[in-house]
Amino acid sequence: MYIPYGRQYIDDDDINAVVEVLKSDYLTTGPKVVEFENMVKEYVGAKYAVAVSNGTAALHVACLAAGIGEGDEVITTPITFVASANCILYCGATPIFADINPNTYNIDPEDVRRKITNKTKAIIAVHFTGQPCELDELRHIAKEYNLLIIEDAAHALGADYKGEMIGNISDLTTFSFHPVKHITTGEGGMITTNDKELYNRLVLYRSHGITRNQSLMSSYDGPWYYEQLELGFNYRVTDIQCALGISQMKKLEQFVARRREIANRYNDEFSNIKNIIIPKQLDGCNNSWHLYVIQIINENRREVVESLLAQNIGVNVHYIPVYKQPYYQNNGYKNTVCSNAEEVYSNFISLPIYPNLSDEEQNYVINKVKKLCM
Ligand SMILES: *Cc1c(COP(=O)(O)O)cnc(C)c1O
Repeated sequence: MYIPYGRQYIDDDDINAVVEVLKSDYLTTGPKVVEFENMVKEYVGAKYAVAVSNGTAALHVACLAAGIGEGDEVITTPITFVASANCILYCGATPIFADINPNTYNIDPEDVRRKITNKTKAIIAVHFTGQPCELDELRHIAKEYNLLIIEDAAHALGADYKGEMIGNISDLTTFSFHPVKHITTGEGGMITTNDKELYNRLVLYRSHGITRNQSLMSSYDGPWYYEQLELGFNYRVTDIQCALGISQMKKLEQFVARRREIANRYNDEFSNIKNIIIPKQLDGCNNSWHLYVIQIINENRREVVESLLAQNIGVNVHYIPVYKQPYYQNNGYKNTVCSNAEEVYSNFISLPIYPNLSDEEQNYVINKVKKLCM
């Protein structure tokens, strides 16, 4: 028995949905892409959704649609997967790291404010573990300085902020459908927005910057005609993948409910353990629990991780502060310090959480973790 920190849940309905597409006329962009986009946008309550090849591509096209380019600065968090910052570099802009709030582990609006310069163009807010960022405070700052907000919601499909679904709040919100995330398409991503103009730009950048929409063209030579208006990419997703996504969406509510159940159980079991800090929750919001992260204090974190791995519990650590990566260290971030981020990183352990983690498996994890942290 090996218990990973996260894994997909695939049933026969998912398998049949994919097989159906393989027998149809469309393999790449066909009716399943639009159907999947409609399902996600309706679920989060947004006007528009654009499906792309992965969550990183979603971040890249979101940055491009937002007009982020050379000379711009974009503020983000160091406690995230590298993609949240790399997408800024792809556009020729500069990532600026603001420290996190040590309670929520999300970007600290006060530190965002301190990092703003006249070059700041946008904020990329990451809902770490599925817990919403302090969006009211961020929105307030964004308004004051005329900044765009891009939410990296790779962890937060199904989460809500003060009653509003994540995906329907900021200028642009991106999702990932990698197998460890809430739903999977193998590889896949999506961007949601309520802004028609941003939507048009997302669609352009997804496919080479090419349009067949006559109202966007400078001339029209005939029915074969198309125009390349921007330098876009091939970030298209396939009907095969979207058929899986549609089938997975039907189970999303169940998936999120089970993740919440598992997280609540961990919280109950660990709340009185001396050397464990359980994750604190922002008032009025509902975490969708992509990850369950505890801090281990007064113990050697590495030894705890190694011991759990040796007992077939696939714990992990999310995340090494992005600016600590050699690539960032070698490209201008040697003097960057976010002390809260570094402190929590040194204590963090991600425990197994996924829809078909059984109660018995969770008991096993709880017992082993308690034994090491009493
Ligand atoms: C998974 C993830 C991404 C990237 O998504 P991919 O689909 O793997 O490209 C971006 N940001 C965060 C926070 C993630 O967890």
